[in-house]
Amino acid sequence: MAERFKNLVAGRWEFPDENPPIESLNPANTSDLIGIVPESTPEDVDRAVKSARDAFSGWRLVPPPRRAEILFRAAELLVRNKQGLGELVTREMGKLLKEGLGDVQEAIDMAYYMAGEGRRLTGETVPSELPDKDCKSVRVSIGVFGLITPWNFPIAIPAWKILPALVAGNTVVLKPSSHTPVCATRFVEVLMEAGLPPGVVNLVHGRGETVGRELAEHPLVDGVSFTGSTKVGEGIIRSCVGVGKEVSCEMGGKNPIVVMDDADLELALEGSLWAAFGTTGQRCTAASRLIVHTEVYDTFLAEFTRKATSMRIGDGLTEDVDMGPLVNESQLGRVLEYVKIGIEEGASLTTGGNRLTGGRFDRGYFMEPTIFTDVTPQMRIASEEIFGPVVSVFRATSFEEAIGLANSTDYGLSSSIYTGDVNLSAIAERELDSGLVYINAPTIGAEIQLPFGGMKKSGSGHKEAGGKGGAIDMFTRIKVVYRDFSGKLQKAQIKE
Ligand code: NAD
Repeated sequence: MAERFKNLVAGRWEFPDENPPIESLNPANTSDLIGIVPESTPEDVDRAVKSARDAFSGWRLVPPPRRAEILFRAAELLVRNKQGLGELVTREMGKLLKEGLGDVQEAIDMAYYMAGEGRRLTGETVPSELPDKDCKSVRVSIGVFGLITPWNFPIAIPAWKILPALVAGNTVVLKPSSHTPVCATRFVEVLMEAGLPPGVVNLVHGRGETVGRELAEHPLVDGVSFTGSTKVGEGIIRSCVGVGKEVSCEMGGKNPIVVMDDADLELALEGSLWAAFGTTGQRCTAASRLIVHTEVYDTFLAEFTRKATSMRIGDGLTEDVDMGPLVNESQLGRVLEYVKIGIEEGASLTTGGNRLTGGRFDRGYFMEPTIFTDVTPQMRIASEEIFGPVVSVFRATSFEEAIGLANSTDYGLSSSIYTGDVNLSAIAERELDSGLVYINAPTIGAEIQLPFGGMKKSGSGHKEAGGKGGAIDMFTRIKVVYRDFSGKLQKAQIKE
C-alpha cells in the first residue's frame, strides 16, 4: 500500500478523498512510488484559510523572540534529519544527492537566520521637528498568507516562504507543487514537531488550477507569495492587484554567462557546466545562454562540448553521476519540444538533444546535455525559458555586444561575467539587467542572507530571503507612530 501524505488543517492531519489521490513517483525510477497525496478541493482550501485566520489573532501577539525559538528548534530538527530529507529530495525531484542535501541546508540556513530575525524586527526611531514628541515606525504582521511553490527546490522554497512569514507573525497556507508533495509534507511535519500551535501553518495538496487558484483568490487571504513560472505568476499578480492584496512573485529566467577573452577559461568552463547542467538545468537561475568573446569562442566551445558529452547521467542517489533526470514526463516532453523548435529555427545542434533510452534509462526521464550554436536572440530557444539541460552558445566581438546580448531577453533573474579586468567587472555589475549578478562565478549559488529575486519578467513585488529589503519586507507592513507628550496641540509644518 502506498504511503499516504496528508493535508494539515487546524493542526489536524487529514486525507480528503473527494478526488482520486495524486501519486508522487521517483523521476529516476518510476516504479518507485514515494507516496500519494490528496487531490484537494476548493472547500479544503477554504477550511485551511479559515484555520489560518483563526490562528492569526493569537500568533501575531506571540513576542517575535518566542516565535523565533520555535524556528530555532526547527533548524535543529532539520540538522538532525538532513540526510533522510536530502535523500527524499533526490528521490522525489531527481537532483543529485549532494544537491538534495543542499536543498535541505538552505532550509536550515533560513531557519537559523529567521530565528535571529525574531530579535531584529526593527523599525526606525527618528527625531521630531516638534518638542516633546516621539516619531517611530514599527513592523506589523500582515495576516494570512497563501504560499504557492514549485517542484525544483521542494524543501528550500517552502522554507524561504514559511519561515520569514512566521517570524513576522503571519499564519500561512502552503500549496506545494503536486510533483513534490512529500518533501513539503515532511518539512511541515518538522515545523509541527518544533512546537507550532495548530492553524499557524496549514498544508493543502492539489493542482494549481484548482487549489492554487482558490488559495490565491480567497478573500480571507491577505497576501500571496508565489514562486513558479512567469505565465502562472502574471495571472496571480493580476488577480491579487485587482483586489488590493499583497503579492510577490519569483518567476522564470533566461540567465546569461558572459565569458570575456581575459577570463580564466578553466574557471569559466567549470562554472558554465555547473550552471547549465547542474540540477539538470531545472533551476530558475540556470545558465541557458553562454556569451563568449570571439577570441576564445572556439577553444571554449570545443572544451565545453567535450565536458558536456562526458557527463555521467543517472539516478542522483547513486555515486558517480553528474546529472539526474528531468522531474517528470511532461517536463521532459517540453524540453525535447524546444530542441525540435531550435532545429526548426535554424540553430545548429552541437551535441545532445535526445532522450536517453535502454536499460535503467527506460525507468526514468533522462536526456542528454544539449548545446546549440548559431543561435540569434530572436529565436525562441534564446528568449523563452526551457528549464532543462539545454544551452545556447553565442559569439560576441566586444564587451558591449556581450552585455547587449545578455540583456536581450524579457527575463532578468541572474547573470554572470567571467573576466580578469576589474574595471569591466564593475561596468558589467552596473549594466547587467538582473536581480543577481555574479563576477567570476556562475549564475547559481545565492546565499540566504541577501535578498533574492529578479527584474523584468523574472520577479515582481518584494524579494525573497534576506532580512530587511527582502523577505521581512514581504511579510510585514510598516506602521508609523507619533506620540505627542507636550499636552498641547502642536501642528507639524505650520508656523503660528
Ligand atoms: P508552475 O508555475 O507551473 O507552478 C508553480 C506552482 O503554482 C505549483 O504549485 C502549481 O501547482 C501552482 N499553480 C499552477 N497554476 C496555478 C494557478 N492558475 N493558480 C495558482 N497556482 C497555480 O511552475 P513549476 O513548473 O512548478 O516550476 C518551474 C518554474 O518555477 C520555472 O519557471 C522556474 O524558473 C520557476 N522558479 C523560479 C524561482 C525564482 O525564485 N525566481 C525559483 C524556482 C523556480
